Amino acid sequence: MSRYDAIVAGAGPAGVAAALTLARGGAEVLVLDRARFPRDKCCGDGLTAGALRGLESLGLDPSAVPSWTVVTDVCLRSPSGREVAMGLPGDGVHAAVAPRLELDAALVDLLRGAAGVTLAEGVPLEGLGLEHDRVRVRAGSEDHEAPFVVGADGAWSPTRRFLGGGGDRGGYRGEWHAMRQYWSGVEGDAAHRLWVWFEPDLLPAYAWSFPLGGGRVNLGLGIVRRPGWRAGGMAPLWSGLVRRPHIREVLGRAEPEGTVKAWPIPASPDPSRLAGAGGRVLFIGDAARVADPMTGEGIGQALTSGRAVARAILAGPAGRPAAVAAAYRRSVEPLHLDNRWAGLLSGVMAHPLGARGALRVAGLSAWTRANFARWMFEDYPRAVLATPGRWGHRALHPPGAYA
Ligand SMILES: Cc1cc2nc3c(=O)[nH]c(=O)nc-3n(C[C@H](O)[C@H](O)[C@H](O)COP(=O)(O)OP(=O)(O)OC[C@H]3O[C@@H](n4cnc5c(N)ncnc54)[C@H](O)[C@@H]3O)c2cc1C
Repeated sequence: MSRYDAIVAGAGPAGVAAALTLARGGAEVLVLDRARFPRDKCCGDGLTAGALRGLESLGLDPSAVPSWTVVTDVCLRSPSGREVAMGLPGDGVHAAVAPRLELDAALVDLLRGAAGVTLAEGVPLEGLGLEHDRVRVRAGSEDHEAPFVVGADGAWSPTRRFLGGGGDRGGYRGEWHAMRQYWSGVEGDAAHRLWVWFEPDLLPAYAWSFPLGGGRVNLGLGIVRRPGWRAGGMAPLWSGLVRRPHIREVLGRAEPEGTVKAWPIPASPDPSRLAGAGGRVLFIGDAARVADPMTGEGIGQALTSGRAVARAILAGPAGRPAAVAAAYRRSVEPLHLDNRWAGLLSGVMAHPLGARGALRVAGLSAWTRANFARWMFEDYPRAVLATPGRWGHRALHPPGAYA
């Protein structure tokens, strides 16, 4: 039986952010992941300004990610076919694309070199047992103990499942369902520009092409699940989408690589889902369902919630888990507020008229174009106007990451 200050299940962006912050604060942490890295994760690979700032603060060096592609040119297409081109500022990086195969491996490399971190790859979480002052974890046929367990194990969170009685609804499959495929040989505009298509049949979600350099893109689409929706409808939607003339035009004679992959995106802001077992088990990232309900972006939220949970554990007494959980909930309140605003805006974007109106306003002037792009890529918190506490210096024009 080995003992730690905390055990983190899952070494995606959320788990790495939590484990690194804990270890840098002096804690002994066990990180387990059922996968060995590098491993793929079905994702659009888009990094918002919020995600980039989080990666920078963890100490990630972009040169460790071979296909890291900085984005400065964006084009949004409204349901009416109107195209609005936007530029992002050059004072640092405000948006980038990084394949998760490479990005997550580079993040896990930060764990390998960190004092205080024991990394167990290829070791799945197999069970949880609650003792009066600690949690026992079964993983890789061994037992480990810690006062706190952090569930960073993604949309299907085995940690939440093993915890049981955690108020989980049966059959939960995420608020969004999204699919992506890599394409290469892109000759059109999409080779260097990031495209978002607000197609009338996908609203309030969208299709995207995110550039990866060398004529390669991450092409994908998301849909918001509605009652009665069936995953079987995604395959015909996908094959029809890649034949749409305006999409083919910007891809040119590109060809798909490999298969199309699909995965849920959990985006239901709910503070009551952040902790269980009286505060001894805490959830972050997709396991806490904190992705943005308007865009489906979740990497920035995974990093934010990971750092927040670590700070709450470091600051709180191990004997008072409820106080730790309360501190964690308080620290992610702004994230939940941003996500609630995003949910409201998603309601506007659900109707073609709403989406057309939003893009018409966005395209009114050079100022609206620049600021809409920054807001969309989470350069400003979604609910910045409603949270005066975040109106610090340059709140509306922060420099990009890695400036
Ligand atoms: C198609 C698609 C496109 C997307 N596009 C974007 C985008 O462009 N930008 C963006 O910001 N977000 C995007 N997202 C959302 C983003 O991928 C997630 O929000 C993000 O990966 C969440 O990170 P995480 O660390 O919480 O979970 P994950 O990245 O899912 O990591 C969870 C980890 O837990 C491990 N694990 C699972 N089970 C166990 C177990 N039993 N024991 C141990 N370990 C386990 C897994 O192996 C994995 O490494 C997209 C999602 C999808 C599906």
